[in-house]
Amino acid sequence: MFRIGNGYDVHRLVEGRKLILGGVDIPHSLGLDGHSDADALCHALCDALLGACGAGDLGKYFPDTGEKWKGVSSLVLLEKVGEVVAERGYQIANTDATIVAQQPKLAPHIEAMIINIAKTLKIDPDQVSIKATTTEKLGFAGREEGIAAYAVTLLQAK
Ligand code: MG
Repeated sequence: MFRIGNGYDVHRLVEGRKLILGGVDIPHSLGLDGHSDADALCHALCDALLGACGAGDLGKYFPDTGEKWKGVSSLVLLEKVGEVVAERGYQIANTDATIVAQQPKLAPHIEAMIINIAKTLKIDPDQVSIKATTTEKLGFAGREEGIAAYAVTLLQAK
């Protein structure tokens, strides 16, 4: 039995914050703002995984109020979501994600993101796909006001 899930997340680009995507600290003049490390890629992936196994969304597990998850690496959240998937009796067939960012160029960092995510979810890197695109300077991503990420995943009953 297969189940599919999708996730979407956006964080605002601001000064004075790190830019973390897929657990990779990417050198840039702006970073993503949020309660955790604001890793929009990991958050979209978490919501895809939770959605696929009917387990709600990231906010249900890790509320963005209070101190508990403040500043946490989103790889920690992703690892816990991977445990939810396993507890519900599913294994990950594959995940695919697209990051939407005008700047910086993400291509040099994609492989490191894939390795981080595969390791965190205890799956093979070839089960993890990550792409990046710009929006030709259109919309909030194009104006470099924020970065968005889309993710889909396929789960298979264990
Ligand atoms: Mg988020």
